[in-house]
Amino acid sequence: MSLSPDLAAKAALARRLLARSAADHAPAVFTTSFGAEDMVVLDLIAGHDDENNAVLGTIGLATLDTGRLPDQTYQVWQRAVQRYRRKIESYFPEAPAVEQFVRVHGINAFYDSLAERKTCCHIRKVEPLARALAGRGAWITGMRRAQSTTRSDLAVEAWDDEHRLTKISPLADWSEEDTWNYLRARDVPVNALHAMGYPSIGCAPCTRAITAGEDVRAGRWWWESADAKECGLHAKADDNVLAQPA
Ligand code: SF4
Repeated sequence: MSLSPDLAAKAALARRLLARSAADHAPAVFTTSFGAEDMVVLDLIAGHDDENNAVLGTIGLATLDTGRLPDQTYQVWQRAVQRYRRKIESYFPEAPAVEQFVRVHGINAFYDSLAERKTCCHIRKVEPLARALAGRGAWITGMRRAQSTTRSDLAVEAWDDEHRLTKISPLADWSEEDTWNYLRARDVPVNALHAMGYPSIGCAPCTRAITAGEDVRAGRWWWESADAKECGLHAKADDNVLAQPA
């Protein structure tokens, strides 16, 4: 299967944006959670063979291993390394912070209150993300506007004041159909949970499958209000999110 002309044009545009960002804002880093959109971006960065390869090869690849990820995410992580032969740097939470939080609040405290959920996300995602982004000029993400109400005004390129770098979202105007057509056409590895009703995948205890008609992020922190479905990694100036990852 090959890409439709429209999707091939979108992919080419995204690769040019990535190449320009890597050159203009070096050093750039792409943080992946190995979800569907992130696998598209990884393939755009590392899966083609053309004149952009040299500059795209300078983009660092990083992931946040929260310690609570589903096994299927570790499996697709391994498949991605095998397919693209690129090093993906893992950022793990600070052990003393996790130990202290669990000791005081319990192993699944995120269900107890929004404050404890945010604290857990801060320890396991936000703080490691800050380390992954430190010293970078650009942060590349796989976010799309249509993914949630909190992302509806997402810009392709914007200054991120919190992290002091340029944030690049090459798939901002892609649809879910674009995403999956690209993945199928390019035979890109995907997280097995997607086929089990998980369009958005985070930590195992905080992600569930959704049913027909539910918002694609309804399975993330499903016990909270729909407007709070960010972990702080991609928070806007939002007092509901101190600073947590996707
Ligand atoms: S998604 Fe859940 S388990 Fe993961 S860091 Fe946030 S609260 Fe903790």
